[in-house]
Amino acid sequence: MTTATVYRDGAVADGRSAQLRLGVSVLVADGRIAWIRPTDDEDQIPPGTEIVDAIGSTIVPGMIDGHSHLTLPGGARWRDHMNDAPERQLATAEHNARLLASAGVRWARDVGAPMGIDPIDGRERAISLGIRDRWRGRDGYPYVRAAGSWVFRAGSIPGPRAVECEDGACLVAAVDRQLDDGADFIKLYLDGPEPNVAPWSVDEVRVAVDAAHARGARVTAHSTHLPGARVAVAAGVDSIEHGFEIDADLAATMAARDTTLVSTLSVFASWRGFATTTTIERFAGADGRRAAGEREEGARASVRAAHKAGVRIVTGTDFGGGSTRANQLAWEVECLVEAGLEPWQALASATWRGGELLGEPDAGVIGEGGPADFALVHGDPLSDPGALWRVWRIAWEPG
Ligand SMILES: [Zn+2]
Repeated sequence: MTTATVYRDGAVADGRSAQLRLGVSVLVADGRIAWIRPTDDEDQIPPGTEIVDAIGSTIVPGMIDGHSHLTLPGGARWRDHMNDAPERQLATAEHNARLLASAGVRWARDVGAPMGIDPIDGRERAISLGIRDRWRGRDGYPYVRAAGSWVFRAGSIPGPRAVECEDGACLVAAVDRQLDDGADFIKLYLDGPEPNVAPWSVDEVRVAVDAAHARGARVTAHSTHLPGARVAVAAGVDSIEHGFEIDADLAATMAARDTTLVSTLSVFASWRGFATTTTIERFAGADGRRAAGEREEGARASVRAAHKAGVRIVTGTDFGGGSTRANQLAWEVECLVEAGLEPWQALASATWRGGELLGEPDAGVIGEGGPADFALVHGDPLSDPGALWRVWRIAWEPG
């Protein structure tokens, strides 16, 4: 039996322009969009089609969380959970899958998971990879692209369940190991033990990037400080994660090289909340608040520089690997607007721009013949990004 649903008389915001389209009907049949028409000029509706009265809601593409950590829960003690047992990390990922769907997020780009023995398939690799494999094709679960584990230099943050490398030869071996394990792309950690010293040279990183590219995989670089970001961009990575210290020069280079910035400003917004909801000194203490405020201001300036230079910006929450949660991508869209993007541009960052980063042409796109990966929200996200919090219905959810 075919299942068909028409979403009748909604508005549409697809992140392609600042203009909301009103009075739109969308017919979904067998999980795909059969047609999109003005409501007063609908095409044929098959008998037995479910009618959803969508008036008053806005149809938006299923979003893409460009920076997520499915195996970890987030919260003010996010780092402690890196050491959760693999069983617990699988359970956390199940919860995160539900949070993502409920928030209208269709895709999760997992940019790092602890290594460990998967309790279900028994393989020792990044815990995210078995999760991705088992979720593939399952109703209600996000589409996942996963980087495997973090490749980092000893003394920086990722710690004992990531992949430690001192030099270029090790980097290339780590790239091969992650890809052999089934990683979709590579995550290099370009913050070193010293904040203002890149952990590896341009040449060392370039050889690793070339090795990944030769196997058809993209490479991204965690970078919260300028020196590491410079090295990563010069070495040819495809994207920078966080990018809290990008200056105008580096932004121009990124634009010229088509290096994407994945923003994670919402982490700072969540820290501001912890200043009153916790007694943890780094959030609640005067010095901590001041330092976080300065970092946040720098990060906003980086986004502005990148945006001005024409760099592709993609939204990430950093849920799990940072303090945010899996259902908070709308927060990042709001933060991008606060940093200076127009609301439609910030929606683009959360939708089709993310699809470009993933190399998935259907991701974040609403179009005839494409998957019915859209959500219905209340309000106009093209003037009020907060509308993305008010998710009413998810077209890809069963039932
Ligand atoms: Zn992260």
